Amino acid sequence: MTPLSDLIAGLISGQGPLTIADYMALALGHPQHGYYMKQVPFGEQGDFITAPEISQMFGELIGLWCADTWTRMGSPTEIALVELGPGRGTLMQDVLRAATALPAFADAVEVHFVETSPVLTGEQRARVPNATWHASIASLPEKPLLLIANEFFDALPIRQFQRTERGWHERCVTLIPQEGGGYDFGLQLSPEALANTSMLPLSVLDAPQGAVAEICPAGEAIAETLGNHLARFGGAALTIDYGHGQSAPGDTLQAVRGHDYADPFADPGEADLTAHVDFASLAQAFAKGGAKVWPLTTQGAFLTMLGITERAKRLSAKATPAQTRDIKSALERLTAPKEMGTLFKVLTITAPNMAAPAGFDAA
Ligand code: SAH
Repeated sequence: MTPLSDLIAGLISGQGPLTIADYMALALGHPQHGYYMKQVPFGEQGDFITAPEISQMFGELIGLWCADTWTRMGSPTEIALVELGPGRGTLMQDVLRAATALPAFADAVEVHFVETSPVLTGEQRARVPNATWHASIASLPEKPLLLIANEFFDALPIRQFQRTERGWHERCVTLIPQEGGGYDFGLQLSPEALANTSMLPLSVLDAPQGAVAEICPAGEAIAETLGNHLARFGGAALTIDYGHGQSAPGDTLQAVRGHDYADPFADPGEADLTAHVDFASLAQAFAKGGAKVWPLTTQGAFLTMLGITERAKRLSAKATPAQTRDIKSALERLTAPKEMGTLFKVLTITAPNMAAPAGFDAA
C-alpha cells in the first residue's frame, strides 16, 4: 500500500467509486504523491524510456522540422516554440541545438513549456534555462506557435465504458475487501447505463457486449483549444505518441514500472499509467477548434522522411565502433516496425491557411 492508496481508499469510502479518469489523475498528478510529481521517471534507472532519451537524432530532426516549418510560414519574426510535457527537457535541448543551423529562426523563437511536475520543471530548467513555464495551455502567448507534444497525450486521464445488454456503463475504481482484512482496488460498472452515448466514438457504438470504449476528454479539450489557437494566430503542431489511427473498442490502460508491465490498480503513484491515443478523436478535436489536420503518419515514416538514415550515417562517420553500434541500435529502436516505428504515430496540425508542412508537399 502507498500513501496514495489510503487517500484514494478514503475517497471511495466517502463518496463511492471513482471514474478511471479521476483515479488516473490522482495516481499521476496528486501534488505530493502523484507519479510525475515526485520523481524523474525516464531513463535506464527509471521506469521507461522515451524517444528523445534514446537518441539526440530524434530532437535534432524535429528541430529541423521546426526551422523548415517556420520558413514555410513566411519566417515570422516572433514565434513561440511550445512543448507540452517536456520531461527532462532533452528534446527541446536537441531542438534548439539543431535550430542554430538557421540563425534567423533561432533568434525568432521564444521557448514555452507546459508542465505540471515541479521535479521535471527543475530538470527542464537545468537544460533549457531561458524557457517560460506554464501550468496549462491557457496562458500560452497569443502568437503564432510551433508546438511539440511527445508522449504527452498518452498520460492524460481516460474514461472507460463497457457495453452490457442494458447499454454502456462507466468502468469505475472501487474497493474489493481482501480475505484477511484490508482491500485491493478493482473495477465495478456504474449501475446506470449512459443516457446519451454522443461522447463515445461513433465507430464503437455497435461493438458487441463486453466491449470496452475509451475516451480522453482532457486530451480532446486541449486539442480543441490548440486548434483554435492555430486558427487564430497561425503555426503548426506535431503530436507524437503511441496509439491507433481509427477509434476502436479495447482496454488500453497500462501501467509500467521498472521497464515492465504492472497492474494499473496496484500501488497508485508508483507506476506510470498511460493509454493508447485515439488519433481519430484527437484529430477531430483539433479540427473542431478550426485547425487543419494532415494525414496521420508513423514515427518510422516521419523520421525517415526527415532524413534520419543520413543523419545516422553522418554521426557514425565520426564515431568510435561502440558509438556506431549505439547509433545503429537507436535508429532501429526509433524507426523499425517491430520497435517504435509503427506503433508510434505522428499527427501534424497547422493553421488552416498554411502552406503544406514537410512530407505533405504533394498532398
Ligand atoms: N515528452 C517527454 C516526457 C513524456 S512523459 C519525453 O518524451 O521524454 C509525460 C510528460 O507530461 C511529463 O513531463 C509529465 O510531467 C507531463 N504531464 C503529464 N500530465 C500533464 C498535464 N496535465 N499538464 C502538463 N504536463 C503534464
